[in-house]
Formats: sequence, structure tokens, C-alpha cells
Amino acid sequence: MSSFNIPNVRIFDGEEIIPCGTVTVENGKITSVDATSSTTTPTHTLLPGLIDCHVHCNSAAPTALPQSLRFGVTTVCDMHNEYPNIITLRKQIEEEGDCADLKTTSFGATVENGWPGPVVLAHSKDPHVLAEVATWPKLKTKQDAKDYIRERVSEGVDYIKLMHESGTVMGAEFNMPSLELQKAVIDEAHANDLIAVAHATCRKDTLDILGVGVDGLTHQFTDQPPNQEVIDAYLKNGAHLNPTLAAMGSLTTEGKALQEQFAHDPRIQHLLPENARNNMCTCMDFAKLPGCTVDNAYETLRQLKAAGVDVVVGSDAAGPAVGTAWGLSVHQELHLLVHKCGFTPVEALKAATSINARRFRFHDRGRIQPGLRADLVLIEGNPLEDIGETLNLRSVWTKGLKCSTFA
Ligand SMILES: [Zn+2]
Repeated sequence: MSSFNIPNVRIFDGEEIIPCGTVTVENGKITSVDATSSTTTPTHTLLPGLIDCHVHCNSAAPTALPQSLRFGVTTVCDMHNEYPNIITLRKQIEEEGDCADLKTTSFGATVENGWPGPVVLAHSKDPHVLAEVATWPKLKTKQDAKDYIRERVSEGVDYIKLMHESGTVMGAEFNMPSLELQKAVIDEAHANDLIAVAHATCRKDTLDILGVGVDGLTHQFTDQPPNQEVIDAYLKNGAHLNPTLAAMGSLTTEGKALQEQFAHDPRIQHLLPENARNNMCTCMDFAKLPGCTVDNAYETLRQLKAAGVDVVVGSDAAGPAVGTAWGLSVHQELHLLVHKCGFTPVEALKAATSINARRFRFHDRGRIQPGLRADLVLIEGNPLEDIGETLNLRSVWTKGLKCSTFA
């Protein structure tokens, strides 16, 4: 394997900024990070590979991982998928390369006729999809929870994903797991040294699932403004929040203009297939409850941030689900954190790198440090001051190998 230097760049190492420095990579790992003195200001900025802690590579779509990588996302966390698809995706990484790395929960902790059945079947009634849905777990008892975790451990999963969706925001009533069952899944995950994160989209579901010990949420609710109870519940658990603001905007349709702006950004047209662009410009439009607004999400996020709750970046990008695009939606999420929720560009980039890595215990990535994976993104300009510059993508490396788009 090759060794190379990236000289005279501004470096954001995931925590700190080095105004000018050189990074050396050998055999897929970062071996040194040195500050250098230069009389000129660097024209480029080097970032740790971005981590998208919430995607769905539905049907093991062969475009999911390469497209993520082209947009500087070197790690994606699949948040519910059929295990055979995970095997296919792992094989794609191994055999073809040029892919974002994949972390997974494999199958989420689903119940019969519960989430995400309604959303998956709303997008497709394809017999293949129906057959996949039929293979999902149908948890009922504490013993089922134990068996479920044992199976996931045997599949080598990285965390556990729970589904706590009553249907409130969608104006529906879905079958949902009891809190007793959710607690059993969470306790069993913890007994196996796995973190447990949960889907919830209304304030009540969020409070309920935090109340049984979950380690993180995979959405921010839009149905209600924040209250002290929510903030206290996050603090009590030391839980993190992956707000998926872009996906919430697609849910309420308030995000449409921004989705279009990102999908049509002239800088990335060569990175985004036309069907992916069209998909991103369409809204999910599931939020049927009157009063649902992304402003509730933004305000909650501002308050949680002020209270010191860890916020992590995950897009919920999925296909055939609409409103998002693998890789690109992470950049939209960074934009929303900065322009709607009071994050500095550096705080937003931390949420997509070092904080994501710490929360998910990915100790080999998320920073630019000797010994870590050489997952790197080279940006022209300075996204540490203007977050919009993250789309000036000039190169992406995963384990020291350059993404073919930039070769
Ligand atoms: Zn999701």
C-alpha cells in the first residue's frame, strides 16, 4: 500500500484547528500530523471523513456506499436493514472498494405491523419489498428481546436500533412495542456492551423511550416545542440526539426549497445521478398532525445544545424514500445546524466527525490523528468559517485510498 503526504493544508482534526500543516498516510493509516510554518494562507482544508450516523441502504442499493463516499462521507451507520442486505454491502466494500464503510444494527427491533412498515410500504408495494418486510423481527416478550440481541451479536452489529413510533405525527395509530419490551431490548443491548438508539418523532414517544434508558434518539420531534422535561430526560441518560433536520423538513414539506437548492448545486452535479437528484427534490410529506413544524425541531435543538447534550449528524438518507440523497444530505444537515440552530461551522463539523465517533464508540476514526484510519476529505476553501464550502470537494480518501471520482 502507498504512502503519501497532504502538505500545506488547513487541518481540522475533529476537535482542533491547525492553521497550516501536513498529514502523512502510510498503509491506510494516518502516521503523522505536523504543523508547518507557511507565509501564505492554505487554499485547502483537510477534514476527517464525515460520519453519517443514520442511513438506510435499502435493498442493498449498490449506489448507496459509493455515492456517500463521493460526498466525503467515509462511514455510514445503517439504522435498519435486512441482514442479507448487510452481507451484500459488506461484500461490496470488500470486493469493489470505493465505498463508504458500513456500520449496522442489521434488523431494527421491530414488532408486527409496527414502524417502519408503514413508511416502507408507502414507498413500494413491490413483492420483493413485501417479502423483505415479512422477515423483520416480531418481538413480543422479554425472551424475544434476549433472542433478538443474541442474533444481532452473532451478525457482528455495531449498535441496536429501536422503533418507538406511535404514529402521532402522521395522524395514524401504529402498533408499537410496550415500554417493558423496549426496556428489555435496551438492557440486553447494554449487557452485551452495545449502545441502543431509538426512532421517535413526537415529544411523548421521545420522553417515553428516554425514560427506559435509551442512549440516543435518531430524530428530533416536530409536533411540540421543547420543554424542561425533555432536556432533563436527555441529561439524565447522558443521551445524544441525531436530529435528522433535513428529513424532518421533508416530512413536513418545509424543507423543499433547501432540498432543491442542494440537489441543484452546480458544484456537485457530477456527483449526483439524475434519479437521486429528482428523489431529493420530492418531500415525504407524512406529517399530517396540525401544528407540526421544523421550527419546533430547531428550537429544541438550540435548547439541548445549550444544555450540553451531544448532537450528532445523521441524514436518514434512504432510497426509494424521498427527500434525501446519500452523502449530499449530510451537507444539508450541516447547513441547517449552522443556519437554523446556532452551531458554529466547527461545532457542526465536530458533530459529523469526532462526536459521532465518540458516541458510537468508533475509536479508529472521526479524528485526524496518528494511528487512526486515513479517512479524509479535502475541501477547497475554508468550511470552518463558511459551512457552505464543504461542497467544494476536491478529494476523499478511505483507509488511505483515494475515491475514484477524484483520481
Ligand atoms: Zn431512519
